[in-house]
Amino acid sequence: MKYILAANWKSHPSSKDEAKRLLVGLSKNSDKFRKLHTIIAPPNTFLELVGSKIKSMGILASQDISLLSKGTYTGETTVEMLKGQGVMASIIGHSERRKLGETNSLISKKANQALKEGIAPIVCVGEDVHDTEGNYFEVLNAQIRGSLEGLKKTDAKKLVVAYEPLWAIGKSAKDAMQPNDLAQMIVYIRKVLTEMFGRASADQVAIIYGGSVEPGNAKELLGSGAQGFLVGHASLSAKSFVEIAKAMLNK
Ligand code: PEP
Repeated sequence: MKYILAANWKSHPSSKDEAKRLLVGLSKNSDKFRKLHTIIAPPNTFLELVGSKIKSMGILASQDISLLSKGTYTGETTVEMLKGQGVMASIIGHSERRKLGETNSLISKKANQALKEGIAPIVCVGEDVHDTEGNYFEVLNAQIRGSLEGLKKTDAKKLVVAYEPLWAIGKSAKDAMQPNDLAQMIVYIRKVLTEMFGRASADQVAIIYGGSVEPGNAKELLGSGAQGFLVGHASLSAKSFVEIAKAMLNK
């Protein structure tokens, strides 16, 4: 099985030159990225640039998709436009977009739209707080069911669920989720998916982890049963991202 290694550049880097430098650093290690399912999600302004370099490494993703088709929608980037740039996957329902008001219902519409358009949805879920009472199980259950509403069993093989506990995002390796806890969460997510889609289809869904994955914790986190990572800050340094890829390949 090839692991998934997805980069979420968020609203970085601030210049095209920086993006080019980052890509040069990544391209030098394309052999490693090819041994994984490598996905890069740059901001829309750099889709064309990343799209022109990514073929030797993996596939291009967007950080969101719009439900609107071409028309009078100021500020929207349509799916047609994304596909025109070579986008083949899309992060959907990232916690930073949920904070801007995206609901499970909207996220499920986007996931369905992505699948209809032949774009693989990377649907993000994750609790705010990992409380001692275990309320996060309920939170996650509702998010998974709500965000994947309307998806069919046959969609499972194209679906990626990114488990990203908010409290672990944007910190450092020592603040990331511990592998044993992650193993438990992956079992739980798979259980909810099984209730929704049946065992055979649920097993086809790739479950990846995001939240302060760095070179220092990638290998042990992969031991939890995660099928890969969604990487934020550490994907903005070619050195770190390459080190994460190496750790995954040496697992
Ligand atoms: C993210 O926000 O998707 C993420 C995983 O960020 P970081 O790796 O910086 O925690």
